[in-house]
Amino acid sequence: MKISFSTYFLTPKKRLNAISYGAKREGVLLKVEWEDGLIGFADLHPWTELGDLSVADQLKGLRQGHSTIQGQQSLKFARRDAEFRQKNLNAFDQFETKVVKNNFLFSNNIDSANSNLGSEISLDVFFENLKRVGFSTVKIKTGINLENEKYILEKAAHAGLRIRLDFNAVLNFPDFMNFMSELPESVMPQIEYVEDPFPFNAKTWAEAKKIVKLAVDNQFDKVHWDALATVPFDVLVIKPAKVDVENAMALCHKFNLKATVTSYMDHALGISHSAYEAMRLKEKYGELILESGCLTHHAYDPDSFSAELHTDGPYFYKVNGTGFGFDALLEEASWTPL
Ligand code: MG
Repeated sequence: MKISFSTYFLTPKKRLNAISYGAKREGVLLKVEWEDGLIGFADLHPWTELGDLSVADQLKGLRQGHSTIQGQQSLKFARRDAEFRQKNLNAFDQFETKVVKNNFLFSNNIDSANSNLGSEISLDVFFENLKRVGFSTVKIKTGINLENEKYILEKAAHAGLRIRLDFNAVLNFPDFMNFMSELPESVMPQIEYVEDPFPFNAKTWAEAKKIVKLAVDNQFDKVHWDALATVPFDVLVIKPAKVDVENAMALCHKFNLKATVTSYMDHALGISHSAYEAMRLKEKYGELILESGCLTHHAYDPDSFSAELHTDGPYFYKVNGTGFGFDALLEEASWTPL
């Protein structure tokens, strides 16, 4: 297997979540050539803030043949991409259009909301516009400024949007319970679930689960899956970029969980892969798969790759080309042998 890489940077429009700041984000595209002549491409976008190895260390692992689960997933996707390319097929052609809706990702806090949305646009108008273009659900990154977030949640609820909150486990148990108890009355019925409210602990999560549905995402590795008969949450967030998807689905079946497939706030090629997984799983598992969260490219300044993503409101359509798309751009990229 011969691997080359092409470094890229994504520029966040705003602070992305409670634990990362607005600096440029580095990742690499991988080009993999197998002995059998197939060539495929994949993204590799680590979040060191969330405990991933750096780009340099990930590449080192790939070079030495002991890649992380993230590196392994990238290789798997590259192989799938290669197989579609070899047959001259687009990965998305097999799907019906509008297989699964995506939530809208709202990652800025109120201080930056106005500048982001255009100073004349109020949150009311913004959320109403989301509904008008077809979104049912908004995911709000929380834990940065709780007072402002209560205000944003109230506005989203008022527009009739279903709400997902994601704290990235930055709160503690008492502060979370306090926050929930102070939410305006209109918000609670609109909450679909709260993702990673505070660091995973089976007892305190079980307490929190009594008041609201919970989803596990970045706390996945802290769950002692083998030791538990039941788990104190309702939804598993599956990020194909760093989780073995079949293994995750097996956990969903075993513990009776629903699943949300999301991108890893990564490159457009990573988004294309995660959107494919969301559509594939939705067609296979139906009800078990909730709205996905793959439309994260809006969190970054547009680039030549993200410009190729075809979306319509909450729906992801195919990227033109063979495999997972971007043929010409991948051809033009400069590749360094690993
Ligand atoms: Mg999350």
